[in-house]
Amino acid sequence: MSLSDQVALVTGAARGIGRAIAETLAADGVEVVVADIDADEAELTAKAITAGGGRAFAAAHDVRDEQSSADVVARILERRGRLDILVNNAGVGPRPGPFHTLTADEYDRVMSINARGLFLTTKAATPPMIEQRSGRIIHISSVVAKRASPNILPYAASKWAVIGMTQTMARELAQYDVTVNAVCPGVIRTQLHEGVVEKMSTLYDKTEDDTWQMFYDRIALGRLQEPADIADMVAFLASAKARNITGSAFNVNGGMEFN
Ligand code: NAP
Repeated sequence: MSLSDQVALVTGAARGIGRAIAETLAADGVEVVVADIDADEAELTAKAITAGGGRAFAAAHDVRDEQSSADVVARILERRGRLDILVNNAGVGPRPGPFHTLTADEYDRVMSINARGLFLTTKAATPPMIEQRSGRIIHISSVVAKRASPNILPYAASKWAVIGMTQTMARELAQYDVTVNAVCPGVIRTQLHEGVVEKMSTLYDKTEDDTWQMFYDRIALGRLQEPADIADMVAFLASAKARNITGSAFNVNGGMEFN
């Protein structure tokens, strides 16, 4: 099926990595649903994509709310009659600290969006894909899901959970020709990561410049990734070229982690 006949739902797509994913898929001809908890910002992003010649519309969507995911998918089916690609990108960053000092609320805040929210959105998006006997589901995990990550336990747990769900969903959906993969970004200078650096600088008593340098020092290629780097991998996984790939988690991290 040509990309220009396909419809993609991208969560957390108003800004950052999600916005780059929406722009890249739209540039490939896919009609993109720019879903985000910030409906106004999502509208602006969808308008910018449309102004650039792409096809997009915005949807208010809170991944924590099961009904919100059901409503977004229902709206897509009403409007376009199909859903081909789901990109679970919405996420929040950690408030760093030793795990024994963190509250249950902090654990729940992160897990409710990064793990539970991904489950709920995928649950809503899967039935039309099963019916179509085709679909591409792409989760955004993280480099922290492939190693021990001190002082960010809830975030690390949520991203390890994403890889677990990737493998399990891939097994369950293979019989319908629906593939499920994950992308594991390294470090991208988005609002999320600016917040992490600010809080880590306080925790480690470093300047923000020194904290950024700590990240650069861990990257073999010596440079941060751009949102477009993640978007290009997502576009590949959504394309026909990736038809025989499922249950995998791909690093896009400049050589921060080699598993
Ligand atoms: P970002 O700039 O903060 O963008 C995240 C987007 O998700 C925002 O538009 C945010 O809206 C939205 N969002 C937050 N809570 C939501 C909810 N409950 N329902 C729907 N949308 C919600 O973050 P990013 O850096 O682009 O991160 C995107 C994904 O990449 C996340 O899953 C993140 O964990 C992952 N990642 C990022 C990095 C990195 O270095 N940046 C590295 C590895 C993995 P509001 O701002 O209005 O809350």
